[in-house]
Amino acid sequence: MRAIELHRDAGAYALGVLEAADACRFEEHLTECSACVVQVRELGAVVAHLVAYAHRLPPGAVPRQGRRRR
Ligand SMILES: [Zn+2]
Repeated sequence: MRAIELHRDAGAYALGVLEAADACRFEEHLTECSACVVQVRELGAVVAHLVAYAHRLPPGAVPRQGRRRR
């Protein structure tokens, strides 16, 4: 897998949706790519907020979308 493709996996890694082999490859990439380390940290914080928000919703509820500005 090329490095540019590994950079694209940061979001999927932060969400925990990579297959095990891809996650291992990405973790190896993290040892040498500070940009992806920063991106995973930032996305991880967003994921944590989304999970906390989702736990506040009643089962089966669909989150409201933000107001649209005209
Ligand atoms: Zn990278």
